[in-house]
Parts: sequence; structure tokens; C-alpha cells
Amino acid sequence: MDILLDGKTLANEMTEIQKQKVEELRKKNIIPRLAAIIVGDDPASEQYVRMKTKRCKKLGIESDTYHLDKKTFEQDLIDLILRLNADKSVSGILTQLPLPRQICEESVIESISPLKDVDCFHPFNVGRLSIGNPVFAPATPAGVIRLLERYGCELSGKNAVVIGRSNIVGKPVSTLLLQKNCTVTTCHSRTVDLPSITRTADILVVAVGKAKMVKADWVKPGAWVVDVGTNTCEDGTLCGDVDFDEVKDIVHAISPYPGGVGPMTITMLMENTIKAAEIQSK
Ligand code: NAP
Repeated sequence: MDILLDGKTLANEMTEIQKQKVEELRKKNIIPRLAAIIVGDDPASEQYVRMKTKRCKKLGIESDTYHLDKKTFEQDLIDLILRLNADKSVSGILTQLPLPRQICEESVIESISPLKDVDCFHPFNVGRLSIGNPVFAPATPAGVIRLLERYGCELSGKNAVVIGRSNIVGKPVSTLLLQKNCTVTTCHSRTVDLPSITRTADILVVAVGKAKMVKADWVKPGAWVVDVGTNTCEDGTLCGDVDFDEVKDIVHAISPYPGGVGPMTITMLMENTIKAAEIQSK
């Protein structure tokens, strides 16, 4: 490995720039404000929202957390979102997923104003993204692209392979890579002979959720590898979807886990919140 795609360092650099940006906006009386909604008591959701709140504070972004009971009716959640949509002081709204079973995620996502949808989950924003004219870029996929570009990856003309086709990561990563003029192959659980495809990748993005799935003989020598996966191995240690120790000496660049894509996700969410505040002010 020649390059470690260090998301923590890049996120710190971007945080300093974002801090200045918020300061400038505040001077113009534009105060970014993020509203985060949690329904139920999922510890992971609570931890993510705590991290987002902490980062907001660091940047000078106001934040409010709405903690709703796990038995909340869908309509009550939607009513709250509609109030936040109408509130001019709120720049961005996010609802932490997953939601309890009685609530339809699609209805909730579609009730968020597209101009406050900082997660970029609303079909309007997904459509804008797919035609190459996004309002917001989804945080994790945008973080993957930023990480590659910051460390000098020339994307145009490269063969990019994405493993995973979720709406949150795999599909939008593929869309963004295509817009950067990569030739993109998107793989999934029904893909036949996956290693023969990943071995063609100049850029390999893995977003599956299976510990150390990508082995040494899956990668092309000199490739750029971005590992989005977050797993806990059998021995209790954290690991990505890529077998880092096996792959690192074959590839040109690789992101670690932890310290790779994760820090970029929250940073790109902040980028969207700042952008949302600018949009609301116009
Ligand atoms: P997801 O919705 O479960 O999607 C997983 C994808 O992997 C699906 O498209 C699935 O294919 C595919 N897949 C499953 N098994 C496969 C196999 N054996 N071979 C090839 N493809 C396979 O997960 P996600 O939300 O995209 O997240 C993926 C990983 O990224 C998770 O570990 C998650 O925790 C992590 N993540 C990290 C961040 C971050 O900020 N660091 C953010 C989001 C997600 P099918 O479509 O055919 O089922």
C-alpha cells in the first residue's frame, strides 16, 4: 500500500473549513440548524445522533434532538416533520433509521421537505442526483468520492466496481462514480463469480456488511479500495468488508476501518446542513 485513505485526517481538515463557513454565515445572520428525530431507543441510533450533535456544536451549528417513544404513530411523526418543514429557523431535518415497524419509512422520508432533506433520501433528491444536478449529495457516498479525490485518485476513465446496491450506499456511490466518468459495474448478492469482476477494478468500493469478505485474490494490484463496511469480528474487534491485512500490500490505496469512510459520513452531513441553511436563506 502506498496510500492510506485516512478519513479522520480529511474530516478534521474539512471541519476547520466548515467552522469558518458557519462563522461567515452567522455574521450574515444565517444560523444553520439541524433537527434530528429518533423514534424508539435503538442504542446505535442514539449514538449516531449524539455524534452528529457533538459535531454540530463544534461547528457552531444549532441542533435539536426530538426523541419520540417507540410506539409513536406514523402520523404523529409526520406531523412533527411538517412543523419542522414550516419552521424557518430549521435548515435540515433527518430521521434516524431504522424506524419501528408500525411506521412506513417511505412515507416519513417523503414528508421531509426536499430542501431540508440533508440525508438526500427523498425521491426528489434521489432523482436530482441521478440526472447529475443534485441539491444534496448523500453523505456516505459523497464521503467515498471526496476521500478518493483528496488522496489523488484520477477517477475519469477508470473501471470502478461497487459491491452493494442499497439505496443508502451502493446505488448512489455507483451514480456518483458514473458522473465522475468512471465505467461502473454494480454487484450484489446475485452476482455470479464476484472475484472475477472485482479483479478488473481500478477502483473498488465495498458496501456489504460482511466481515473481511474481500480477500487478496479479489483485488487488482495497484487498485484503490474503499471499504464502507462496518463489522464486529468473531473475536470482538472491529473490521470492514475487506480483509485489510491480506489486501493492503497488493493495492495502491485502501481505507481503514475504523478511521476511513465513517468520519467522512458525518462531515458530509455537516456540509449538507450548511448548504441547506444557505438555500433557506435565499
Ligand atoms: P444493505 O442495505 O444491507 O446492503 C448490502 C448490499 O450488499 C446489498 O445490495 C446486498 O445485495 C449486497 N450483498 C449482500 N451479500 C452479498 C454477497 N455475498 N455478495 C455480494 N453482495 C452482497 O447495507 P448498506 O446499508 O448498504 O451498508 C453496507 C455496509 O456499509 C454495512 O456494513 C453498513 O454498516 C456500512 N455503512 C457504513 C457507513 C459509514 O458511514 N461508515 C454508512 C452506511 C453504511 P442484494 O441487494 O442483492 O441483497
